[in-house]
Amino acid sequence: MDKEKFLAKARKLVAEADSWRKSADNVLNWASIALGSPGNKLTDSALMLVDRCFKISELENTGRKRILLMRVKETFKTVAEFYAEVTNGNQYLNVGPPVRPDDIAYALVNGWATKDKSGLTFVLAKCETKKDLDLTDIMMHESIHFAGGIGHFEIEGVPAYGEKVFTLRHHQAMVNASSYAYFAYIARLESWQWATAT
Ligand SMILES: [Zn+2]
Repeated sequence: MDKEKFLAKARKLVAEADSWRKSADNVLNWASIALGSPGNKLTDSALMLVDRCFKISELENTGRKRILLMRVKETFKTVAEFYAEVTNGNQYLNVGPPVRPDDIAYALVNGWATKDKSGLTFVLAKCETKKDLDLTDIMMHESIHFAGGIGHFEIEGVPAYGEKVFTLRHHQAMVNASSYAYFAYIARLESWQWATAT
């Protein structure tokens, strides 16, 4: 696959990533309702998903829990602004060489704040064979870095990717891009899957 063909495909997947982002936002809104008035199946499930990914139950009072929800919402809001901009043009999606040997894609943390045009960079050889689902997940992860300003939490020098996100404490998850990406990945599923999906 050549560079232009790959970038055309990546641009199409921005809409998919944005729908994951929207699902995450919905879950955060429902979780907020559950904090005030528990007892509804949908909103309680939403709060449970927030707990799986961000360990909201570690926080002692409702005020702190609301701040958590607000902070995660803000992170996804900047991702929404970024996706709106990408949808309007071809900027911010690029193909480039790996910086570190294992790189699949990379982005400057908080680069969106300065409108850094390098945006999200995909390593073509690693990404061209990925399924749309995996590529959308990669795009979300890098968008959380670039627009959300969130880096990695590392376990023994390795970023907490994949299912490792479920082992993190609250303060660790909040600074870990994969925790946000995984949250969006599950939020897009049916609500009955939120408690167990990986
Ligand atoms: Zn990363």
